[in-house]
Amino acid sequence: MTATRTEKARTELSRRRRELVEAALGAGAEIESLRSAERGAEFEEEAQAAQGVSDLQRLEEAERIELARIDAALARIEEGRYGTCADCGRPIEARRLSALPWAIRCAGCARASEGP
Ligand SMILES: [Zn+2]
Repeated sequence: MTATRTEKARTELSRRRRELVEAALGAGAEIESLRSAERGAEFEEEAQAAQGVSDLQRLEEAERIELARIDAALARIEEGRYGTCADCGRPIEARRLSALPWAIRCAGCARASEGP
C-alpha cells in the first residue's frame, strides 16, 4: 500500500462520507457536530448525547451500512492498517480496493465472512 494510494482512498472515502451525512442532514443542518467525531463508538456516543442520532436515523439502512464501512476503512487508514486484510493480514488486492475503497478484507476472506 503506497502512501499516495492511501491518500487517494482517504479522499474518496471522506468525500463519500460527506455526501451521505449531508444527504441525511439536509440543507442548513449542522455538519460540524458530526465532523468532530468521525469514528466508531465515540461517534455513536457523542451523536446520541447530542441529538445528532435522529439525523443518522434519516439515513436508509443501506446508507447506514455504507457509512459504517467507510468509518471502519477511515479508522484503518488512521491506524496505518489500510489495505491489509482484517482477517488474514495479507494485502487486499489493489483491484478490489479501487472498486471498493472501504473493503477491509481480501476477496477470499470477504467471501468466507459473507457466506452462509
Ligand atoms: Zn483475508
